Amino acid sequence: VTKLIPVSEIYGPVVQGEGPLTGRPTVFVRVGGCDDRCVWCDSKYAVEAEYAKTWEKLTEDQIVERVSECTGPLSVPGHVTLSGGNPALYELSLLVNTLRQSGYEIAIETQGTRFSFWIANLDHVIVSPKPPSSGNQTPYDPQSQLRLFVKTCFEDARYHGWEYPKLFALKIVVFGRKDFSYARSVHEAYPDVPMWVQVGTSVGKDEPHHLIEKLIRLQEMVLRDPVMFDVHATIQTHVLLHGHKRGI
Ligand code: SF4
Repeated sequence: VTKLIPVSEIYGPVVQGEGPLTGRPTVFVRVGGCDDRCVWCDSKYAVEAEYAKTWEKLTEDQIVERVSECTGPLSVPGHVTLSGGNPALYELSLLVNTLRQSGYEIAIETQGTRFSFWIANLDHVIVSPKPPSSGNQTPYDPQSQLRLFVKTCFEDARYHGWEYPKLFALKIVVFGRKDFSYARSVHEAYPDVPMWVQVGTSVGKDEPHHLIEKLIRLQEMVLRDPVMFDVHATIQTHVLLHGHKRGI
């Protein structure tokens, strides 16, 4: 029996605005449902139960069809980002296989609270542990799910020379000093994993000049901290350019 996947929205191609794939055209498949409730979540419409009636229940084939409607018959630009909510809550192996057979590269954005083995078969795995300001800090200790992500998608993949994932990265949103020191501790726990720290934004509150001031402060924090000298200090470029508009 095919299990239907709750989908909040499918849109694109748009230019990825954050993390290591910044600047890359992609189609977003945003699933509905999340195991976290971050106070500053900018995708509440894909999280809160009150929006569940807006989520379409789709088969894998229907999702692939919708993605190809976005990219056009040539499947250009050929990149899909599974986002949410938390896409790791669902069994998406069949979707991933079908997308790959259709020629797409596939990325996931997930917070690192649930690991599943299908994730290790993706091209790009970007894990965004949630810092203290979220209200539900993501554990990163040796027993944590985040540790499983790092072990399987990074350490084992490198050791065995697996083809996937081609990219594994950590991305942490920073709203202030406590979040920065959380990011620092995660980086100390997993020093070899490439890390992006990113200016935290508040829906409807951040004018572009505020964001730029915040980015300058974040970059100064990184420059003053030898532990963080090899992280990337960045901003959500789509928010800088368009605010928190949906479908951008
Ligand atoms: S993990 Fe992501 S989608 Fe879920 S509540 Fe937090 S910010 Fe929103």
